Amino acid sequence: RGLKTYFPITGGMFGATKGYVKAVDDVSFQVFKGETLGLVGESGCGKSTTARTILRLVEPTAGSVIFEDKDILSMPRKEFVKLRREMQMIFQDPYSSLNPRKMVRDIIGQPFKIHQPKMSNKDREDIVKGLLKVVGLDPSHLIRYPHEFSGGQRQRIGIARALALNPKLIIADEPVSALDVSIQSQILNLLNELQQEFNLTYIFIAHNLSVVKHLSDRVGVMYLGKLVELSTSDEIYSYPLHPYTKALFSAIPIPKVGAKKESIILEGDVPSPQNPPNGCRFHTRCRYCMKICKEEEPAFKQVARGHYVACHLMNR
Ligand code: SF4
Ligand code: MG
Repeated sequence: RGLKTYFPITGGMFGATKGYVKAVDDVSFQVFKGETLGLVGESGCGKSTTARTILRLVEPTAGSVIFEDKDILSMPRKEFVKLRREMQMIFQDPYSSLNPRKMVRDIIGQPFKIHQPKMSNKDREDIVKGLLKVVGLDPSHLIRYPHEFSGGQRQRIGIARALALNPKLIIADEPVSALDVSIQSQILNLLNELQQEFNLTYIFIAHNLSVVKHLSDRVGVMYLGKLVELSTSDEIYSYPLHPYTKALFSAIPIPKVGAKKESIILEGDVPSPQNPPNGCRFHTRCRYCMKICKEEEPAFKQVARGHYVACHLMNR
């Protein structure tokens, strides 16, 4: 609720703060138990920072994150560390998120060493073997190192590590972006199966809309630190309302004919989040821009059941 994560820009005289990158700027949404919420947007829109803020990997500037009725941003660190096992993250890059000097046994077993230090080596190893099977790897892989695996297999190791402590929520930050297209669907299918099997809730971050469409129950679209549209997957793909969402979706190729829908070209680059445009942040690139768009920020409002949009066109 009202989540803001600003990063100070230093470099003024005597290291003074020159300004802030408003990476996440007043974002509010809910995630329902058992669902997958997709978060999409171009790079730099704040989706990763939103994820990292939820898990307190970065401290927010303002706002709250409520997990099962508990405000995790204001609870003492010690209490949060306990709760943290219920929330895990899968990272984009399976190459750099696994310690190259550690065997798979220790990578996947590490969460137990932290949270259940009294567990015997034998018990831990048995659990790791079980986890390897669950993610489609061979239990004998446990004495191998990350470099001995393909990209897809490494992501499976990352997933096994995330599953180790029986989490409720998994935040997957572009989990297939670094993988070959042929491998992507295998990993997406695995995530789908695991969700059913372990009753998981996902926040799934991607810039690739076709990836999100497959997996998400609802989709949120971010632009320059703001959530601009949020709705069920079906609705947002059939009736996107925000001009930015429309532009993003028009770029998805239609697989059957191999042709593109009428493509709305997004003109200009994404403006800097250090100095975002006044009014609607999308106005510099929006082909529907009106006078009010440059002056007033549009509110994020419900326009149909469960469908939220921040755009002045909704008021006309
Ligand atoms: Fe475009 Fe105005 Fe809507 Fe922003 S508020 S998306 S500039 S029409
Ligand atoms: Mg990112």
